[in-house]
Amino acid sequence: MRKIRCPKCEQFIRFEDSRIEPGASIIIQCDNCGKKFSIRFKPKEEKKEDYTYGCIVVVENVFCHKQVIPLQLGENMFGRRCPGTVISSPIDTNDTSMDRMHCIVHVEMDKEGNIIHKVEDYDSLVGTFVMNEILQKKEKRVITDGEIITLGATTLILKTGAPD
Ligand SMILES: [Zn+2]
Repeated sequence: MRKIRCPKCEQFIRFEDSRIEPGASIIIQCDNCGKKFSIRFKPKEEKKEDYTYGCIVVVENVFCHKQVIPLQLGENMFGRRCPGTVISSPIDTNDTSMDRMHCIVHVEMDKEGNIIHKVEDYDSLVGTFVMNEILQKKEKRVITDGEIITLGATTLILKTGAPD
């Protein structure tokens, strides 16, 4: 089902979209005011995320909802999303103990083509923890599937493939 707003009375109209061909025009009649109008039917965009290099699952807490952030080969900078700070992997959260640039997840490939994940703290105020152990300055800690990274009050889980 989809909903659309009536152009005349602005009531929402629900309609069944499962059998409509993408790109087809359909006529809809408003239940509320009787207005008939046509719309061109756009297919639902299925966003295909690429999980070749795994992803970070941000666990829901009082500061944020659950998020899944795909990883890219190279450096992935994680931190709290803030206007004016552009990073590759921002997290939507009100957790102010998370820095705007908090840690880097490095995704590397070895000679055999194996993908290796490492976490490095980005000189954050409260530090970056892997499995409850604080990372030392400049330390790059190898992490594997299911391991937990803690940034402030927020828990991140590495998935080496697609999320569950
Ligand atoms: Zn209407």
